[in-house]
Amino acid sequence: IIMSANPLIPESKLPALGTTIFTQMSALAQAHQAINLSQGFPDFDGPRYLQTRLAHHVAEGANQYAPMTGVAPLREAIADKTAALYGYRPDATRDVTVTAGATEALYAAITALVRPGDEVICFDPSYDSYAPAIQLAGGVLKRQALQPPHFRVDWAHFATLLSEKTRLVILNTPHNPSATVWQKADFAALWQAIAAHDIFVLSDEVYEHICFAPQGHASVLSHPQLRERAIAVSSFGKTYHMTGWKVGYCVAPAALSAEVRKVHQYLTFSVNTPAQLALADMLREQPEHYRELPDFYRARRDRFVQALAASRFEILPCEGTYFLLADYSAISDLDDVSFCTWLTTEVGVAAIPLSVFCADPFPHKLIRLCFAKQEATLDAAAARLVAL
Ligand code: PMP
Ligand code: GLN
Repeated sequence: IIMSANPLIPESKLPALGTTIFTQMSALAQAHQAINLSQGFPDFDGPRYLQTRLAHHVAEGANQYAPMTGVAPLREAIADKTAALYGYRPDATRDVTVTAGATEALYAAITALVRPGDEVICFDPSYDSYAPAIQLAGGVLKRQALQPPHFRVDWAHFATLLSEKTRLVILNTPHNPSATVWQKADFAALWQAIAAHDIFVLSDEVYEHICFAPQGHASVLSHPQLRERAIAVSSFGKTYHMTGWKVGYCVAPAALSAEVRKVHQYLTFSVNTPAQLALADMLREQPEHYRELPDFYRARRDRFVQALAASRFEILPCEGTYFLLADYSAISDLDDVSFCTWLTTEVGVAAIPLSVFCADPFPHKLIRLCFAKQEATLDAAAARLVAL
């Protein structure tokens, strides 16, 4: 037998893909002991009650496989919350699926829906997990570039992107990284554009409870026609300050959910049982937590904006998410990736460049700062940024 001297190296299915910017910047922040406002996660802990309930369910022996679609109490609590907030009650058995974070729901939805040659429309800057899933499914991504500071969709231009092959539109509101939100009028415009076509909608709403707009969060689930062909995705990681728990879910009509579940069944099968039971308790017993979340984050946002007022950064409006965009044109001519590297290594504050979320050149001098941090962290970061 002749053995190959080298291990077989597969031809990559994702040749252009590197490590995510979030991992890169967090590693750089750690190496340089910078204040990490890059990757989006809180530097404070989630609710004690939720942690206590997790320990309780582990001790009670809830340690075997959960049902494939999620434990019933959690699916029911999600259905109730959806009804209370968005005026539409999904069927807890057929329409709600618990997933390993929003990331898994997004991947399962894209894999279930996108066939080779299908076209998918998304809005740039766009979250980085959509494109690889579309590519692996053999889909073709069409990106509509949105422009700062308002990042509004030009619906006339959107209409030009539609074709016979368009299968799916992916949107994200509140939007990471622009911190803008869609209003009901945007969903109405989307409906008008796609009503006559067989097109599905994937609505990434992981920041649904971190919305500062006076009208509150506009969900695709509130739109009676769109929700008939939409998959809405959310994540408990954002809502409960526990990004490491990796529990999310999606809501979609039964026929769509059935297809998503076929992928979920063989991607993860099911999500860890005690965390699901603890989250069900949390939703039921402390609904005020997610109801008060906008105020909780608004206070942090305002404190950070106030502290940066003395800086040379120009701060863009923030309507949702726990991210703030800052324009550094007055400070540096560097491109955004170089600026973020410099900021991390020389100034000691890590941030995320925006151009990495865009396919087209994105020549703006914008960085994303995460304000899901303790006041002392925000104050320390602001002191460094004000000195520039
Ligand atoms: N979508 C967006 C827009 C996000 O910002 C994130 C995570 N920050 C996710 C999806 C993934 O969420 P999860 O951590 O629950 O997988
Ligand atoms: N979604 C988080 C962010 O925007 C990061 C998630 C990740 O690291 N994959 O910062």
